[in-house]
Formats: sequence, structure tokens, C-alpha cells
Amino acid sequence: MACPLCNAEKYIKLSEERVDNIVLRYKKMYKIDTSKFFTTEKLELRQCVDCRMEYYPYGQEGDADFYEAFSRRDGYYVQDKYEYKWLLRKICEINPQSILEIGCGEGYFLDHLKDSFEVRATEHNPAAIEILKSKGIELDEDGKTYDLICSFQVMEHVKEIGDFLNWLMGKLNPQGYFFCAVPNPDSTLIQEVFQPIDMPPHHMNHIHKETLYKLSELFSMEVIDYFAEPLRTNSGLQNVLKEREKVYAHGLWRGMLNKFARGVRMALFPVLLETIPLTGHSHGILLRKN
Ligand SMILES: [Zn+2]
Repeated sequence: MACPLCNAEKYIKLSEERVDNIVLRYKKMYKIDTSKFFTTEKLELRQCVDCRMEYYPYGQEGDADFYEAFSRRDGYYVQDKYEYKWLLRKICEINPQSILEIGCGEGYFLDHLKDSFEVRATEHNPAAIEILKSKGIELDEDGKTYDLICSFQVMEHVKEIGDFLNWLMGKLNPQGYFFCAVPNPDSTLIQEVFQPIDMPPHHMNHIHKETLYKLSELFSMEVIDYFAEPLRTNSGLQNVLKEREKVYAHGLWRGMLNKFARGVRMALFPVLLETIPLTGHSHGILLRKN
């Protein structure tokens, strides 16, 4: 199978995981049965030699039920993201007439814009669509095009990412802007902790900085700016550390360790992060169509 983004045939096999292990970990950590999304015994992770994207050629994307179960977890839709503020500053410079957000969840980002910009959204989760309706945020329609299309933490969920981006380019006006933010696979904390949700059926690919820059070449766009979120003592970091405790702590020890770890989180991390800047959860790119 060729690379789903750039169609190159050449790849490096990065790792291989037994599917029953993945299914077991989803059950243990998130209480979700994911067995129907796998058809092979092993799941391979490949890296495209050309665009550097890492992808799982054999797993399936999560369906509406899977995401419905996931979105019931606390903090799945985040109100305040680093990349929201980053893009809002850029929007002041660009001043687009029309904006489309892909997979906007409950519309937390568009809330900042809907009163004075023409905004539309795409979203699959029926419960989130109801909330958008109540806010007066309209959904995208066939044939509509936009000055700015943005997506926050969406592309890593899409298996056929090349087809998805081609569709999206058709919705972008000439000289229009495309922004996307994705998890940063070069963040060491993410690499260590975000399993199994960094695998199908949740994440279908891992998008490196090189891959984000490659989008400009693949879809004839110009790179305007790139950002990598620094690691902060925000809820995102707290979640990562909690996940780590789930992996390493069991039984009676868990309570004691949680208390200790919480103390460390609260007291030491702000100091540590001031001293040693680390790479945080997200990175992203703003591009302009030629
Ligand atoms: Zn590729």
C-alpha cells in the first residue's frame, strides 16, 4: 500500500504490535471494545521515506459510536488550546471574509469569531451538531468555498488523508489560507504516554514537522508560519502525567503514587519548565494557496 498522503511506495517499517494487545489496552484504559476495527493479527507502523508521515496501513478509522464513547470522557473537547490563540492572532493579520473549521466539536474556536466573521463548520458527532445549532453556527454545504479553512487535531484521525486534503483544497478560494494543528510526534512525553490512543482506531497517522512543510509542495501552497507548542503546566500536561501514572501504578500503590505525583506536578513542574523548555503537545502550520 502506497503512502496515503503523497502516494510514494517506499517506506521504513518502524514497529509492529500485536492487535490483541492493542484491543486489550483500549479496554483497560478506556473501556471501549475496538476489535471490529482490525482485520490483521499485527499492526504495522510505517514511515514514508518521501513525506516522512508515519501511518498504519491496516487499521480502520473509528466510527461514530467509537467517537461518541470517547467524547464522553472528560476533556475530550478542550475549550482553551494554545493553537487557538496562535491562529486568532493570525486571523487579525489575514482578516478573511469566510472561515470553515473542519471537525469543530462543540464550536469552542468558532465562538471567538462567530459574531463578526462569516463562519461555517463540519462535524460528525450528532450531539455536538445539536450544540452548534443552538449557537447559530451553520454547517458547510456543497459548493461553498472559503478564505480560511482550519482544523485542530483532525488530520491525524483521517486514514485517506491525501483524498481528504484534495477535497479541502477544492473548498479554498484562490490565495486562501489553510491552517492545521496536529499532535507533535517529536514531543517525548507524547511518544511515551499516548498509547494506545495514538493508534487506530483513534489516530491513523503521526505528522512530523517535515510532513507539515511537505504539504506546501504537495498541494502548491506557500508556507506562511509554523509553530510548536512548548510544554506548559496546563491541563494537557496534567492529563499526560495522569495517563503515565495509569501505565505504571497498580492497586494500593496507585493512591499513594497519585498523591505524590500530584505534589510534583503542582510544585516542581512550573520551575522545571521555566528552566528547560520542552516540546509540548501540538504543532501546526499556516499555508496560503498559490
Ligand atoms: Zn508520503
